[in-house]
Amino acid sequence: MDRMINVVQPTLGERELAAVREVFESNWVGRGARTGEFEAAFARHLGVDPGHVTSTNSCTSATFIAMELLGVGPGDEVVLPTVSFVGVGNAIAARGARPVFCDVDEATLNPSAADVEAVLTERTKAVVILHYGGHPGAVAEIAELCRARGVRLVEDAALAVASTVDGRACGTFGDMGVWSFDHAKILVTVDGGMLYVRDPELAARAPRIAYFGLEQGGPARSGSSASFHSGYDQALRSRTRWWDYDVTSFSGRSTTNDVLSAIGSVQLSRLGEFVARRHEVARAYDEGLAGVAGLRVPPRPPAGHTSSYYMYWVQFEGGIRDQVARDLYERGIYTTFRYPLMHRIRAYGSDAVLPRAEAAAAKTLLLPIHQSLSDADVDRVVAEVRDCTAARLGRARAA
Ligand SMILES: *Cc1c(COP(=O)(O)O)cnc(C)c1O
Repeated sequence: MDRMINVVQPTLGERELAAVREVFESNWVGRGARTGEFEAAFARHLGVDPGHVTSTNSCTSATFIAMELLGVGPGDEVVLPTVSFVGVGNAIAARGARPVFCDVDEATLNPSAADVEAVLTERTKAVVILHYGGHPGAVAEIAELCRARGVRLVEDAALAVASTVDGRACGTFGDMGVWSFDHAKILVTVDGGMLYVRDPELAARAPRIAYFGLEQGGPARSGSSASFHSGYDQALRSRTRWWDYDVTSFSGRSTTNDVLSAIGSVQLSRLGEFVARRHEVARAYDEGLAGVAGLRVPPRPPAGHTSSYYMYWVQFEGGIRDQVARDLYERGIYTTFRYPLMHRIRAYGSDAVLPRAEAAAAKTLLLPIHQSLSDADVDRVVAEVRDCTAARLGRARAA
């Protein structure tokens, strides 16, 4: 058998290694100047002020911080599409709030503004959406709905690191945005995340919640600690002891470090090239799989939207999805489905009935898409998907 083609794969190489070596040689591997540089570069990439972004050790940590900053708690409802990542459901439920799941479009797996609106109540404190597959979806319309209804919007932009609507970055439409740089994403720091907070006061609290709730450089000082040394610098200016600190919340530690941030800065400089290749792969699948009986390719993003092409999904007729997935696996092509429907996970205690999400979850399959796929890999995936679909559909129809 040929080597297995992965569904996702990072692209880490000599430039990242050189950046790590440089951090090792600096003798400072903790959170410091390189983390500040990565935050500033990421803020530029988003088109926001660097004082409004805080790096974290994961997207999930950033989501937990977002829920704390919004004051989500018992009695509150937080709306999210049932096609969402469990870390988000946990961030809501861990604060004693109730996750309320909405339906999604059957073809895009993203919710419309109407899907969100259908489940808003007077107890809704916030809405958390993602951008399925990296396609922005109705983020602009949902942001407008949330503003009109006085509900906070958090964007889980883990899949949308380079996605935009009319030039504006996904993750910056709502009140907060969170990103993931874990091993399976496009921009990979091995593990890491980022939090954007629009409100300046909440933005200033975010780095403190990410670091034990500490206010460094002596009590009663406002710490917009973009850099590890800011407490020290402030303390020197104000002649207090730089090792003093105060506690403003009972928080854990969600910070990252200069080793991972140095990798992040290199990856960010390569992001355009990564996404361009993913776009090519998506177009090749669109063309190679167009018109295959029993199979539908995903809708293209509408005019004005750019996608990060984090996922490429196809949908099967005739109930053959699981069989095709197994056949492809046996032929060395790894596929998957994201995300198992959240309202079906018992721990969240939902009794929602969401028929379009159910239909989508029963027929959707994610094909390999990453920037390291060669043209030969793409051709092989196309040929095998065509072959397996025809074989399984033939058998399903004969039965
Ligand atoms: C990966 C992922 C996350 C979590 O990211 P971590 O950095 O691993 O915590 C959150 N949301 C979505 C949609 C993801 O795919």
